[in-house]
Amino acid sequence: QARLERHWVAHYDPRRSQDVREQMSLESDLHEALERGELSLYFQPVLDLCREQIVGVEALARWFHPTRGAVSPGVFIPLAEERGLIRALDRMVLEEALRTAVTLPGWVAVNLSAQSFLDPGLPKFVWDCLDRFGVEPWRLVLEITERVLALPAKAQPVLKELQALGVQVAVDDFGTGYSSLSYLREFNLNYLKVDQAFTGRIGASQKDEAVLEGILILAAGLGLRVIAEGVEKPIQLRWLKEAGGELAQGYHIARPMGTEALHQLLENWQPS
Ligand code: C2E
Ligand code: CA
Ligand code: CA
Ligand code: CA
Repeated sequence: QARLERHWVAHYDPRRSQDVREQMSLESDLHEALERGELSLYFQPVLDLCREQIVGVEALARWFHPTRGAVSPGVFIPLAEERGLIRALDRMVLEEALRTAVTLPGWVAVNLSAQSFLDPGLPKFVWDCLDRFGVEPWRLVLEITERVLALPAKAQPVLKELQALGVQVAVDDFGTGYSSLSYLREFNLNYLKVDQAFTGRIGASQKDEAVLEGILILAAGLGLRVIAEGVEKPIQLRWLKEAGGELAQGYHIARPMGTEALHQLLENWQPS
């Protein structure tokens, strides 16, 4: 009897079955949200530290669920990746971001999951969107992680075709992956986005500052521009300026926001 009970408990933990049911209902809601176009985009400005101008924005997916409220991308992006919905999501984000780009100066960065580089129709889709909205290719920046760049360039036909369109490429979360740095000379890249894990420790850790200085030197030598992410404090901004950092993004500069707020911010922007 005791053994049976243990067995039952191990296999029918009510908390766990609750989780599975919850996952499944979130998944079907995400499916519907994608079909009905219920996801939206926020945009976070990127500041040129020297000119003190907003030179670009990063598009970030948002899901405002009618009853759950705001669902975090940290929840629904991994779910979309697990359940085979991420390619559709990435395409939707690309299309919306390029539609918005028409109303903005500068460039728009879009996050692409590793799985989107297995989508052979993606380059044509991107080209059609650029063409339909009349956006010059350089104004689209694709943010990709080191995971994608871990494969050799010739094993990346989708990335190669995308780059042949003239769009730019940024390495997202630079320095947090497992990969070696050999991809830096193999691929034609435009930006390194330094993760907030480093930026956040400016003023608190000399080691992290040394890593940042090293990244700035590395990038300069390779002709890459550095975007420091997660700038939350004035001291971090000052440090970056003095260290020769070119671009920065973070709550201290501006939070991600809807298009209306973004247009207002751009209109009223004054170099400090
Ligand atoms: P990420 O690409 O590294 O994006 C930066 C994240 O940091 C965003 O979180 C942004 O809101 C947040 N952030 C910006 N400034 C600051 C700051 O000063 N301090 C702190 N603590 N955080 C800051 P978010 O919007 O929650 O997105 C989380 C992740 O979800 C993104 O990380 C990205 O990996 C993924 N994601 C978001 N939108 C998309 C999308 O459209 N497609 C794909 N494939 N992934 C997306
Ligand atoms: Ca990103
Ligand atoms: Ca990032
Ligand atoms: Ca990240």
